[in-house]
Amino acid sequence: MIRKTAAVWAGKATGTLSRVTRRGGGTTLPGDVARAIDPKILTRLAQDLTYGSIVITGTNGKTTTARLVSYLLEGAGHRVVSNRAGANLIFGATAAALDRAGADGRLRADWGVFEIDEASLPRAVDEIQPRATLVLNLFRDQLDRYGELESIAKKIEQALSTLPEGARAVLNADDPRVAEIGLGLPYRPLWYGLDDVSIAAKTLPHAADARTCPRCGASLIFDAVYVGHDGVYRCPNGDFARPEPDLRATDIKLNGFESLALTIAGTRIELPLGGLYNCYNVLAAYAVAYSVGLEPQYIADRLKTFKPAFGRQERVEFRGRHLVLVLSKNPAGFNETVRTAVDLAKGTNYILGLNDRKADGTDVSWIWDVDFEQLKDRARVVIPAGVRAHDLAVRLKYAGVKAEAPETDPGKALDVLIKNTDEGDTAYVLCTYTAMLDIRAELVRRGWAQPYWET
Ligand SMILES: [Zn+2]
Repeated sequence: MIRKTAAVWAGKATGTLSRVTRRGGGTTLPGDVARAIDPKILTRLAQDLTYGSIVITGTNGKTTTARLVSYLLEGAGHRVVSNRAGANLIFGATAAALDRAGADGRLRADWGVFEIDEASLPRAVDEIQPRATLVLNLFRDQLDRYGELESIAKKIEQALSTLPEGARAVLNADDPRVAEIGLGLPYRPLWYGLDDVSIAAKTLPHAADARTCPRCGASLIFDAVYVGHDGVYRCPNGDFARPEPDLRATDIKLNGFESLALTIAGTRIELPLGGLYNCYNVLAAYAVAYSVGLEPQYIADRLKTFKPAFGRQERVEFRGRHLVLVLSKNPAGFNETVRTAVDLAKGTNYILGLNDRKADGTDVSWIWDVDFEQLKDRARVVIPAGVRAHDLAVRLKYAGVKAEAPETDPGKALDVLIKNTDEGDTAYVLCTYTAMLDIRAELVRRGWAQPYWET
C-alpha cells in the first residue's frame, strides 16, 4: 500500500512537470515512472474502480469508440477515467489512472475505459481484469506491414480466453479476422454487425487484406462489403462464415461527415458523427454500453449531443471557411475517410498529410494501398503535405489526381488551402497522426483551434 502511494505520488509529480514544460497531452511518462516503482500499480488502481473497466482494441476506431463509451457512462452520472489523448499503450492507461488518483493513492472513479493497442491486450487484460473487452477490427496497419497479424490474432485470442469470471467479450462479426478469433473461444461472445445492403459495396477494395478463408484458404465470398474487409462473408466450402450478430444496425443513413443514423434492435440512433466506419464505432459502443446495463433509449438520447475526439472529424472555423480534420492512418482508414469526403460530403478541397515518424510508421509504402484514385476528376484542390509530401505527390500522380506542389511546411500548406477555398466552403484535412499534430499546432498558433489537451 505504501509502495502504491509512492508510485502514485511519483507518477503525478512527473505528470505535473511534463504539463508545465508543455509536452502536451498524450504523455505516458508518469505511467513509466509509477510502473518502475510499483509494477502492479495499474492492477491496484483498477481495483479501486467502483464498477470496473472496459478495454477497447482493434486497428481502427479505438479512440472514437472509447470516447462514445465514456460519454454514455458519464451521462449516466458515472465518473470515468480514460486514456484519451492517443497514448493507447498500457503506460498511457497507467498515466490516465494516476492522473485521477487522490493523495491517498486511491483512484477516484467508477469506470475505466481504456483503448489498448492489439499487441498489449494480453497484458492489459491480465492487469486490468476488465468487465468487458471490445475488439473492433483487425486490419493490416502501417506499423506491421509485414505480417505480424497472425501472431497478434493469437495474442488477442489468448487474452480473451482468460477473461475474468462474468466478463463479456464484444466482437465485430463482420471482420473475418475477429470472427476467427471469436469462434475459437471457449464461450460465445456478444457479436455485432451491420445489416443494410443498401449502403454496401459488392466487391472488396483492392487493398483489402483478409480475402481468404482462415480454415481452408479458399477465397471468401462477400455478399456485402461495408468497410475494408468488413462485411457479410462465407467460405464456399462451408467451413467458415460470418457469425450471426446478436446486435445489428439496420436502416443506415449517412450524411457526409455531418451525421449518421441507424437502428439497433428497434431503437433509432442519430448523432453528429459521419462516415460508414463510424456506424461500426457507434454499434460497438452501443453493444458495450448495453452489455453493462445502460438502457437503449437512454443511449439514443445521450448520443444526440456527442462531440468527436481530437482529429476525428474535428471542425475548425477560419475566416468564414470550414475545416474538417480527419485522422487517416492506414490503408483501410484512409480509404474510408477519402470515400466519405468525396462520395458523401462532396468535398473538393483537401490537404493530405503524410509523416514518417514512429507513430505514423517509418515505412510509407502503404500509401500505394490507398485508393487515392477516388479523388481523380472529383477533387479541385489537393495539397500533398507533411514530411513525406513528395512521396504522396508521386502516389497522387500515379492515381491521375491533379495536385498542387508538395508542401512540407504545415503553415504554407494551410495558406495554399485557404487561398483556394471560398468563404462559406468546407475543406478537408486528412492526415497521419503526427502530420495531424503538426497541422493542429499551426492552427493553435494562429488562434483557430484550442490546444488539444484542453478540448
Ligand atoms: Zn474455408
